[in-house]
Amino acid sequence: MKPPKFSYLAPESVKNAIAMKQELGENARYIAGGQSLVPMMNFRVAAPSALIDLNGLTELSKVSLSSDSALNIGALTRTRRLENDPKITGAHPLLAAAARHIAHAQIRNRGTIGGSIAHADPAAELPGIVLACDAEIELQGPRGFRTVHAVDFFESVFTTALEEGELLLNIKFPRWPKDRKWGFQEVSRREGDYALVGIAAWFDLDATSSISACGLSAIGAADTPVRLTKSEAALLGSVPSLPLFEKAAAEVTADIDPFDDVHASAIYRCEVAAALAIRTLTEAWERDT
Ligand SMILES: Cc1cc2nc3c(=O)[nH]c(=O)nc-3n(C[C@H](O)[C@H](O)[C@H](O)COP(=O)(O)OP(=O)(O)OC[C@H]3O[C@@H](n4cnc5c(N)ncnc54)[C@H](O)[C@@H]3O)c2cc1C
Repeated sequence: MKPPKFSYLAPESVKNAIAMKQELGENARYIAGGQSLVPMMNFRVAAPSALIDLNGLTELSKVSLSSDSALNIGALTRTRRLENDPKITGAHPLLAAAARHIAHAQIRNRGTIGGSIAHADPAAELPGIVLACDAEIELQGPRGFRTVHAVDFFESVFTTALEEGELLLNIKFPRWPKDRKWGFQEVSRREGDYALVGIAAWFDLDATSSISACGLSAIGAADTPVRLTKSEAALLGSVPSLPLFEKAAAEVTADIDPFDDVHASAIYRCEVAAALAIRTLTEAWERDT
């Protein structure tokens, strides 16, 4: 199917884009890679009266390390760059690994990190990574600039803390220690499909080889990505081992709330989430950083 008629605008600055959106109201939509919005328009699930194209805003494609070694990734950064740019793969290997699971190369060439986070599909990989890693999401809107922590950003299916007219500018990932252990695992029906369930995990070890900090999240397991706080509590302060990972995995179902759909039942998703938690933590533990 073809999309309904829309007008097209190409702003030259962030300020310009926000002003256009303010003038056109909620029937206008920002477009970045178009890899979610255009299919939705073609299926007539979305029928914006106007598209405000962000692709000319080169200031939104910047990637940099700040003085505290946080990794700043501009919203318009393509998914493909997350997996290939040494500046990103070196500074955040978990993000790079998760990006490789997204769709197919052609889609990753166009899709952007900001678009994925703003779209907020509960089965999408990048929102899960943002959540597991305590990233901060920087927004600019008609009422100015603000930062939202990942834990407060995802509200429901396709629903976020973005307010009318707000533009996602940048995602700030806290410093990633070189010796951090990490893993990412997902199950999907075919390679390139959205995950039925996926688990991201990282942990740091102290001088006694005990887990001193960790972050775990699940995708495809609720109406938003979910932080697995009970599993994290089970891990903290202990020395990694298979029995410890099994104990943490047993807590996964306490935090998730999966649903039945045409692809899988909620019970199946619970079982896969727990099994993937063990696999992901084992992958992290066996990783030679
Ligand atoms: C066949 C297929 C398979 C796919 N498989 C996967 C998969 O396995 N995993 C996965 O995670 N994704 C998958 N995707 C989606 C893909 O990753 C998209 O690129 C991504 O979800 C949206 O990014 P985008 O830049 O294309 O956003 P767009 O489609 O341009 O926009 C999506 C939404 O975000 C808004 N938006 C975009 N940028 C901003 C911004 N900077 N500020 C505020 N709002 C903004 C738009 O207004 C729109 O509402 C798939 C897509 C296709 C077509």
